[in-house]
Amino acid sequence: MSKPVRVRFAPSPTGPLHIGGVRTALFNYLFAKKNKGTFYLRIEDTDQNRFVAGAEEYILEALEWLGIAPDETIGKNEKFGPYRQSERKELYRQYADQLIATGNAYYAFDTADSLDTLRKELENEGKTFIYNHSNRDQLNNSLALTEEETNTKLTNGEEYVIRFKTPINETLHLHDVIRGDVKFDTNLLDDKVLFKSDGMPTYHLANIVDDHLMETSHVIRGEEWLPSMPLHVLLYRAFGWEAPEFAHLPLILKPIGNGKLSKRDGDKMGFPVFPLEWKTAEGSSSGYREKGFYPETVVNFLALLGWNDGTEKELFTLEELAQVFDLKRVHKSGAKFDPEKNKWFNHQYLMKKSDEDLAKQFQLIVAENTGKIEEIEINKLTRIVSLIKERAHFVNEFWELSNYFFEAPNSYDEKASKNWKEETPALMLQLITILEGISDFNSINIENIVKEWMTNNEIGMGKIMQPFRLSLVGALKGPHLFDIVEIIGKDETIARLKKAITTL
Ligand code: GLU
Repeated sequence: MSKPVRVRFAPSPTGPLHIGGVRTALFNYLFAKKNKGTFYLRIEDTDQNRFVAGAEEYILEALEWLGIAPDETIGKNEKFGPYRQSERKELYRQYADQLIATGNAYYAFDTADSLDTLRKELENEGKTFIYNHSNRDQLNNSLALTEEETNTKLTNGEEYVIRFKTPINETLHLHDVIRGDVKFDTNLLDDKVLFKSDGMPTYHLANIVDDHLMETSHVIRGEEWLPSMPLHVLLYRAFGWEAPEFAHLPLILKPIGNGKLSKRDGDKMGFPVFPLEWKTAEGSSSGYREKGFYPETVVNFLALLGWNDGTEKELFTLEELAQVFDLKRVHKSGAKFDPEKNKWFNHQYLMKKSDEDLAKQFQLIVAENTGKIEEIEINKLTRIVSLIKERAHFVNEFWELSNYFFEAPNSYDEKASKNWKEETPALMLQLITILEGISDFNSINIENIVKEWMTNNEIGMGKIMQPFRLSLVGALKGPHLFDIVEIIGKDETIARLKKAITTL
């Protein structure tokens, strides 16, 4: 029987979670659900220089908002805890020691300055410095020194790091669930630092030890980690542990041009690259939530960045995704980010909400704009929402689309005002009289009576309808005119007509 599926999302808390990281979390979540497995969150905070306060809370809040909270993490089903690497600090040293004892790692005493000098010398010759089999016998480490020399340095408390002794002359034939077979020449790898002089493991060591101890079955992560795969597999081998399966997700690409999607692309084109807003003393970065996107939308568009179900289907709920998601259908090539399409997705989810729910969301916005919360009747709002939602991507666009329902226009669209002719005021006065006479003031009835009056007097449609709309809305936009008339009511309609007659 194969191992139970246990996958992880293992971000470093170095700032707000980029949307690419969210996609990694989502794919892990979906893979876990699809395979009746476990999705856990581990915080990789061994690099204390890069730690940013608030980032961990942000990550958790973002996953909760999207509905993809982990099954296990800090403070939740801590079966393999702690889930914060800084709290596991004591544990890693023994594994580094084990690798030294088995000849898979060595002490390196080289100072940062001496390595820097070497690096520069080589760069001047047009070469690159890489710490590995080609030079490790000549550097300041326990492979080059005698055992006695090494021990003296250690007892003298000289600073050192522990490096991996990469095996030489091997071609590694590895398997990636998404990429298939991948080959690596071990002679091209460098001897990565596994343990630092500050007593902390590096990402590589801590990540492998924890993936093993937390019984990770699959490592699903971004393509930028593919170059680390040979080292990671070699580490599993050195420890004598079975390696998990690996799946490296394709990059998320800029909407225009080439390369990885960056925060700068978002700033330039006006879309967020973070799930939630991120605020610091220096400023803030916008988030999908605050822009008015629904979590369903974000889940849906992220799922389609590098994956599809093999059909043309585009709309998927989280539950549906959890049923059909398959790592084998993840593409190898990068996925273009499409901010316009993302808005289209939000429109689709907006249209799925009930008018009552949308009206409730809209209520606060109306109150903010009119300052009159107690006067807003929810039934009226529901009706308005049903008339305008078709044109909106977000609830926060509703006000712009419907403000004329709540207040008379204070200006008239210049181009549309050309429809206001010499004879218009007289016709509008007649219209007022007609409207005054209507007792059952509902859309259909008003329309019938007004149209009958126009037909009987052989008044062309354009002569009435456009100036009428202009008077009520201030422009030639909006839903069915007689719906507007009914909703704003008889008195207000007549008042607006009178105002237009005196202004235009
Ligand atoms: N801590 C790494 C990161 O920040 C995790 C990479 C991995 O999943 O192995 O992305």
